[in-house]
Amino acid sequence: MTSDHDIAFPKLTSQQIDALRTRGRTRPVNEGDALFREGDRDYHFFVILSGAVEIVEHSSGAPHVVTVHEPGEFTGDVDMLTGRSALVTGRVQRSGEVLELDPRDLRRVVGELPEISETLLKAFLARRTLLLSDGFTGLRIIGSRFSPSAHQLRDFCNRNAIPITWIDLEDDERAETLLREFGVPPSATPVVIGRDGRWVSNPSVADLARYVGLEAHVDADEVVDLVVVGAGPAGLAAAVYAASEGLTTLTVDAVAAGGQAGTSSRIENYLGFPAGVTGAELTRNALLQAQKFGARISVPQRAVRLRLDGGRRVVVLEDGTEVAGRTVLVASGIEYRRPDIPGLAAFEGAGVYYAATDMEARLCAGDEVAVLGGGNSAGQAIVALSRLARTVHVVLRGDDLAKSMSRYLVDRIQAIENVEVHYGTVVAGLEGNGSLQSLQLRDDANVTTKIPARALFIFIGAVPHTAWVGDCVRLDRRGFVMTGISLPPDALDGDAWRQAGRAPYFLETSLPGVFAAGDVRSASVKRVASAVGEGAMAVSFVHAYLGATAG
Ligand SMILES: Cc1cc2nc3c(=O)[nH]c(=O)nc-3n(C[C@H](O)[C@H](O)[C@H](O)COP(=O)(O)OP(=O)(O)OC[C@H]3O[C@@H](n4cnc5c(N)ncnc54)[C@H](O)[C@@H]3O)c2cc1C
Repeated sequence: MTSDHDIAFPKLTSQQIDALRTRGRTRPVNEGDALFREGDRDYHFFVILSGAVEIVEHSSGAPHVVTVHEPGEFTGDVDMLTGRSALVTGRVQRSGEVLELDPRDLRRVVGELPEISETLLKAFLARRTLLLSDGFTGLRIIGSRFSPSAHQLRDFCNRNAIPITWIDLEDDERAETLLREFGVPPSATPVVIGRDGRWVSNPSVADLARYVGLEAHVDADEVVDLVVVGAGPAGLAAAVYAASEGLTTLTVDAVAAGGQAGTSSRIENYLGFPAGVTGAELTRNALLQAQKFGARISVPQRAVRLRLDGGRRVVVLEDGTEVAGRTVLVASGIEYRRPDIPGLAAFEGAGVYYAATDMEARLCAGDEVAVLGGGNSAGQAIVALSRLARTVHVVLRGDDLAKSMSRYLVDRIQAIENVEVHYGTVVAGLEGNGSLQSLQLRDDANVTTKIPARALFIFIGAVPHTAWVGDCVRLDRRGFVMTGISLPPDALDGDAWRQAGRAPYFLETSLPGVFAAGDVRSASVKRVASAVGEGAMAVSFVHAYLGATAG
């Protein structure tokens, strides 16, 4: 039987090596040569022809040999394709000869030689899993679980699959030792300790993203075929289809690839995954798939404006960068509504959360927690949290869970012993000193009760992310982007449409060449499958638009 180790460290056949030879160059290497180092970006891929190459990582502060590649084996992991900084160092252990390919050559191999591509991608994914299970420390973050800025940093790393070790100021004795070692006062936390042993106090997520190489480089005079705003399921699907069909594509996301789906503990109704799939897994695979085809995905980069510049559509980012495209896809999704509870903001990230990923669930192990809302995302959170929390209190304005939740989730929740549903109730107040301790609930009869709760998870509907499109495209009454036949005649009564001489395509907005897909689109079905479908479909309209406007 093939083991995980065999998948992670296969030997290429002589035919596979010959096929790679035509795309790379061979060169001699000497003992001690570093082929790539931790922190390098755009590092090369090597097949060992003779000699040996050891892979070492230093994230815990001391060198740790991960593996030694012998002849026929190859270097690299998922970050070769994602363009992120290397987590490990490759050093020649025994002099010999290697076959070297740069990332662009490697991407071509992955696109053109399916048999080799399968071996490489499976190995890259398996290596990352083995690295993490082998105690890889990654970045160390020391902070309080009640600190909103520590939560923001952890959430960012978690959602972007950046390996970290969390060291809790409250109950991990390593925290005090490390802080003393580095001469850092607890007041300077959260502290992030990097691969080189250097630490930084309370960095911004943008600084952290730069450090791990998440931002793509954008040339000032570059015009891509398609700019995608939002890397949720719709944006990622568009990136996969566009890049695989030869369109130059740049995708920006304000937070992380995966969107709302990336925060789901388990998606059970997405076709092809009978056992369900976690949001993190779906995102990781989609991201790798998009990048294997050469799509560039840049985070955290928030679009703040859309404007026209001649025939180009320009997306202006928060840091002032302008990204120009022949076409743009609005795939910026929706964001959770915040309830009107006094003092809510003070507890956000310190007991109040808008997602219940594995990370938040583990924070609540053994505690009383509450979920506000009765839709499917609330249902999934209730099921996931009930496995670790002592009691999950569900606060529901209505009197029937089944009114807004799928039957399978209602049945599951009703069978869970540590779930208590408070019908006809709202959250009237939050109590705690720096971190959440209890909730005040008010029922239909205006009676207030107090329940203990170390965390409140809020899932009460959403508003679209469309502020950045301004008045460039027509929105419906609720702020969602209108497309295709739903556009009213007056939205099409301009020179642009007269020149185009056609009606808008199904997913085209009131501005020709700007498309919308997924949850942000007016009247869309709010599901992963439909977002993916629309993202893929939008690319066919991009082709049609580019074909009609070429020359
Ligand atoms: C907890 C949870 C569980 C769910 N479970 C299921 C399920 O089981 N089955 C199912 O079918 N559906 C489920 N859904 C719904 C599903 O996740 C969404 O329908 C789907 O993610 C929509 O995809 P999207 O790409 O349109 O938008 P989103 O997923 O909302 O992604 C939009 C992306 O755009 C980014 N963005 C926003 N504004 C900007 C800006 N100005 N600049 C740059 N980037 C920006 C955001 O950061 C985000 O990453 C769930 C949702 C949640 C929250």
